[in-house]
Amino acid sequence: MSEEGAERAERTAARIASLARPLLIALDVDGTLAPIVDDPAAAQVPAATARTLERLDALPDVQVALVTGRDATQLAAMIDGARYWRVVEHGRRLLAPHEAPAEVTLTAAKRAGLDAFRARAEREWAPAGARIEEKARAVGVHVRELATSSPVEAKRVLSEAAAVARELGLAPRAGRAVCEVELPAVGATGDAVGATGGADGPGDKGEALARLIARLGVRGVVYAGDDVTDLPALEVAAGRGVALFVRSPEREAPTGLAGSAVDGPGALAAVLGALATRLDACRAAPGSPAADGGPPGATRGSE
Ligand SMILES: [Mg+2]
Repeated sequence: MSEEGAERAERTAARIASLARPLLIALDVDGTLAPIVDDPAAAQVPAATARTLERLDALPDVQVALVTGRDATQLAAMIDGARYWRVVEHGRRLLAPHEAPAEVTLTAAKRAGLDAFRARAEREWAPAGARIEEKARAVGVHVRELATSSPVEAKRVLSEAAAVARELGLAPRAGRAVCEVELPAVGATGDAVGATGGADGPGDKGEALARLIARLGVRGVVYAGDDVTDLPALEVAAGRGVALFVRSPEREAPTGLAGSAVDGPGALAAVLGALATRLDACRAAPGSPAADGGPPGATRGSE
C-alpha cells in the first residue's frame, strides 16, 4: 500500500474511533471484505481480514456484523463468521452470534416458482456464458465473465432474467453483474417466504441494519458496502456514524458518499487494520496520547 493510501486509512480509522460507544461495525461481504472473483462460489474473505475482524469484535465495546445477500450456508463457506451477528439474504434473516440458521421449508408452490426460474436459467443463460448460483430462497444469474467477452449479451441476459422472474411472480434484484431472483418480500403476498423460525425482514439491508442497531442499543455505527443494494444501509450509517462506499470499476461512489469512499476490499482491510490497532492502543492506555482521536470519556466503556 502506498504511503498516501496508508495515511488515508489512518484518517478514516481515526474518524471511526471517535464515534460513540458501544460501536457496531457492520460490513457487507462480497466486494467489500471479499474481493470479487469470476466464480462467486470461490469468493473468500482473506485470512488477514478475518483476523482483523476477530480483533475488533474482541474489544469490549465493539461488535462486528456481517451483512450479505448470500444465505447463511454460503456465508459460512466464505468466512468462519458464526461468532458475529449475521444479516443474510439481503436482510431477510438476522442471526445472533452462534445462532444456527432455521431450516428452510418452502411451500411447494414457492419452490416450484424458483425451480422454474432456475431451469430456464440453466437452459437459456448458462449456455450463453452466465453462471447460475442457487441460494436457499433465491437464484442468482451472474454475468461478470460474459460482460468481459460480450457486454451486449450480458445486458440482454440480465434484462431477460428480470423479465422472466416477474412473469413467474418472483422479485428480481440487480447487483454488480448479477440479477438475483427471490421470492417476493414478506407481506407482499401474505406469507411469501414461508420458512420456519427466524424473523423475516423485507429484504432491505438498511431496514435490517436499523433493526440490528435497535436490538443492540449501539450508539455509534459504521457500515461499508460496494453495491446499490448497500445504499439503504449506508444511509442509515451516515446518520449515526460513518458510511464507507467501497469503490470498484463497476460502481463509482454515489454523490454524497464520494468523500468517504475506499478503493476496494484491500483499502477497506487497511482501514479496519488501522482501526483495530488504534482501538487496541486506546484500551491498553486510555489516558495516554495513543487514545487521541478516541471517543470522549463520557461515552467510553461498556454501557
Ligand atoms: Mg457487496
